Amino acid sequence: MKTKRSAFTLIEIMIVVAIIGLLATIAIPSLKHALTRSQQQACAVNRKNIDGAKLAWALDHRQPPEVVPTEADLFGEQGYLEHKPNCPAGGHYSLNAIREKCTCSIFQHFN
Ligand SMILES: [Zn+2]
Repeated sequence: MKTKRSAFTLIEIMIVVAIIGLLATIAIPSLKHALTRSQQQACAVNRKNIDGAKLAWALDHRQPPEVVPTEADLFGEQGYLEHKPNCPAGGHYSLNAIREKCTCSIFQHFN
């Protein structure tokens, strides 16, 4: 007497793998773009916070707009921000003068 086994054939497994590969091909670039975009936006928020801290420091200490504050002026428990924000993509922030905006070392985070 023969018993019938139920199992996937090689063709069925190959079709499933092909579909998974197709979906990954579609999804991965859009996920990468979303990650890049969210890093840019988080970096922009960090730079706005730094600019706000610079303005508050300049007003409190009556500094002219040409002065470049140090990190010790802005960050720390006695500063205007608890710690210096980090760029989510690994860039470094330049504080710049009060009248200029803070910039990130990563070119795509310029604005
Ligand atoms: Zn950045």
